[in-house]
Amino acid sequence: MTSQITIRRPDDWHVHLRDGEMLEAVVGYTARQFARAIVMPNLTPPVITVAAAEAYRGRILDALPAGADFTPLMVCYLTDDADPAEIARGYEQGVFAACKLYPAHATTNSAHGVTDIRKLTGLLETMQRIGMPLLIHGEVTDRDIDIFDREAVFIERVLTPLVRDFPALKIVLEHITTAEAAEFVAGSGPQIGATITPQHLIINRNAIFDGGIRPHAYCLPVAKRERHRLAVRKAAVSGSPKFFLGTDSAPHGIGRKEAACGCAGIFNAPYAMESYAQVFDEEGVLDRLEGFASEHGPNFYGLPLNEGTVTLKREDVTVEDVVTHGDIRVVPFHAGETMRWRFVG
Ligand SMILES: [Zn+2]
Repeated sequence: MTSQITIRRPDDWHVHLRDGEMLEAVVGYTARQFARAIVMPNLTPPVITVAAAEAYRGRILDALPAGADFTPLMVCYLTDDADPAEIARGYEQGVFAACKLYPAHATTNSAHGVTDIRKLTGLLETMQRIGMPLLIHGEVTDRDIDIFDREAVFIERVLTPLVRDFPALKIVLEHITTAEAAEFVAGSGPQIGATITPQHLIINRNAIFDGGIRPHAYCLPVAKRERHRLAVRKAAVSGSPKFFLGTDSAPHGIGRKEAACGCAGIFNAPYAMESYAQVFDEEGVLDRLEGFASEHGPNFYGLPLNEGTVTLKREDVTVEDVVTHGDIRVVPFHAGETMRWRFVG
């Protein structure tokens, strides 16, 4: 039995680092495991200008623990009035790595999101021309569509026409949760990729209702039926370069989760690589973890692979019930459980 693995340093292609005190509380966890991360721009107000992205990048770098070797990759939040010239300038200057499309009201702080993608035609033409990736939260927001069907309906109504109309546009369908999404991405051209979170590989929707309502298992897109988890898992461990690591780690203070209307988001950053290693180990393909975690993402984005390596050891680790930093308390994914792999660094 393999007792340890060493792989090229991994990156996280989708993370929420938040801002202010929460940023200080969580950034060290991501920086400890990952060399780079695509940092989501859904702050209040959202990151929509080059100047705002540079300022946010500065705050992230300031919040890093001493000695951390971590590069935040910034993302532009798209609104109905997104300015193609500003976004192209940000991409060409190396400030923006991508743009993020949130359908309006799809998730946390997405009230400024896009109401109709047809309003972005000029911008999408520009992004296609300059090779800038479009990252998509792929759920429709119509209240008449069942929450468990919103990703599949988005693929049919929005993504399929988008891919047809912009055949060379690089698109990442973020945090896929369904068999439909896995099939769509696998069956598309090389310009279409997807990120996969630890939670969507590990839990199905029963986890949200396990003996009572479990707010810490609630994220968006919400976990689906078991057959979808199995399909997403198969995609992740397939070795296909279209699928890569994106934790969607999304911390909320404990009081914002354990509430009458609890926020969506799972904080998985502290044990992200442990989660993924466990999945690849269970599937008997630990040799494919490096591609998923460290190679497919940079290859898709057209960025260099990281230098250096990290090691994971087969050792039991008990996950704490709560992570604290000053007044901030956040419940991590796997709280109270024992993980079978330990990230050594
Ligand atoms: Zn997210």
